[in-house]
Amino acid sequence: MSKPLLISDVKCINFDKRTVRHCSLFIENGVIASIIPDKQSTPKKARKINLKGKYVIPGFIDSHTHLIARGIELQRIDLEKCKSLNDCFEKLRSALPKDEILFGSNWDESNWSSFSTSRLNRYALDRISKQKPIIMRRICGHFAVVNTKALCLIPKKWKIVDSGKGYLYEDVALNLNDIFRPTRIMLQKAVKLGTKEALAKGITSVHEIADLDRFKFLQQIKKKNGLKLRFSVYILSKDLRNILAAGIRSRSGNDYLRFSGIKLFLDGSIGARTAGLKKPYRDSRIKGKILISMQKVASIIREAENSGIQLMVHSIGDRTTCEVVKVFEKNISRLNPLRHRLEHIEIVDRFSIKMMAKMNLIASMQPNFARRWQQPGGMYEHYLGERYKEMNCFKRVKDYGVRIVFGSDCMPLGPLYGIEGASKHPFACGRLHPSEAFNMYTKEGAYATFDEARKGTIDKAKLADLVVLDKNPLRVKDMDEVKIVMVIIGGKIVYKNRISPINTDNSNRNN
Ligand SMILES: [Zn+2]
Repeated sequence: MSKPLLISDVKCINFDKRTVRHCSLFIENGVIASIIPDKQSTPKKARKINLKGKYVIPGFIDSHTHLIARGIELQRIDLEKCKSLNDCFEKLRSALPKDEILFGSNWDESNWSSFSTSRLNRYALDRISKQKPIIMRRICGHFAVVNTKALCLIPKKWKIVDSGKGYLYEDVALNLNDIFRPTRIMLQKAVKLGTKEALAKGITSVHEIADLDRFKFLQQIKKKNGLKLRFSVYILSKDLRNILAAGIRSRSGNDYLRFSGIKLFLDGSIGARTAGLKKPYRDSRIKGKILISMQKVASIIREAENSGIQLMVHSIGDRTTCEVVKVFEKNISRLNPLRHRLEHIEIVDRFSIKMMAKMNLIASMQPNFARRWQQPGGMYEHYLGERYKEMNCFKRVKDYGVRIVFGSDCMPLGPLYGIEGASKHPFACGRLHPSEAFNMYTKEGAYATFDEARKGTIDKAKLADLVVLDKNPLRVKDMDEVKIVMVIIGGKIVYKNRISPINTDNSNRNN
């Protein structure tokens, strides 16, 4: 058991009260054992860190991540910063001598000088190489373009494929790592890289989406080397049978790795024009597709209810959400004791919001999307026209009484980036006070995994998961001014910012 830790001279922020409390934190066995008021005597026998008046907040809980997938992407070709389609092609071409598979991720046409993807098809990629498989997956993950070589390697069981153009949609695009499998070494490195990036952003817990194999892989890593970050895993619905057969139930595991529930995809994304909308996408007749019949959804909900399994349901478009809330209403227990949640609901009507409030369905939303794609002239306006003003309506959803949890979907990781997006939302229906946004990235995230007694605030008996900031984030003009100085998980320092260091006094002079 590690030695107790005393973190002194800190200013703890309470986001509910919007207050700052000057105190010391005494941490024992990974838990906040006591909060000692300023000027009161502190325990002698402890390792000590003096934070010299820095601000401390609860560790961030990112309620929607694909961290392992992110770690794999970091080892492949990143197209996120490309400014044009030609840029993407150049980047793929430059990897040709070294990579056996040219797998480029995260292209985002809203970063290009023109949104046009009309030149993007398998023949264009064939001009880079006909010998090696080439994959270009869009940032949302719901759409990818492949060359002829890669197309030939895709098993026939995947259905939403436009072979003429080399376009892959939905599950085949989302599951490309099952077809072009990363090596075990890549996977190990992926967990490390994803964790490292998350810690540097102040994230201490993630709600990670993975399949059963990846969950088992995390179990092995935890057993062998331990995990540095806390994972609550939501496993893809394709594995539901196996999970039930293995007798795994929601909330099994421990504070570092736990099975939390099942993830279900009901539609695609706005950027891929596959989210299920009531009215067509701008200048088109496309309305997106609901991927699973509502009868099937009802049977999955009933199965989950009977087995005590929480559901995480991906639902982006207004038509999709409107349909699924009706199915929930008929099939779940009153007040939603399993805390089923809907992911994204980027465009949602008032009827659905009211229904969510009535049933206590959790809204899991992404404030970073508002910052990244909801500006005038941005991706949302391009694909939806005027409707872009009524998206990611955090304030409206909250005002109806729905609990919101915030997550990044790794686009990009970074709660402070997202909180800035919510508090400077371009439209009033979405704008929150920063303290509300912080709560959604801490306390509310804990609620979603039944961890409210263990995480999410700085209180006695809670896990010592803390983030040290150089400034009071409720007093800055721009969240980008705030630096993460240190991150602590279970009383262990897991990240230190080299640019704004803190002198940690580990000399134990008082022993
Ligand atoms: Zn996601």
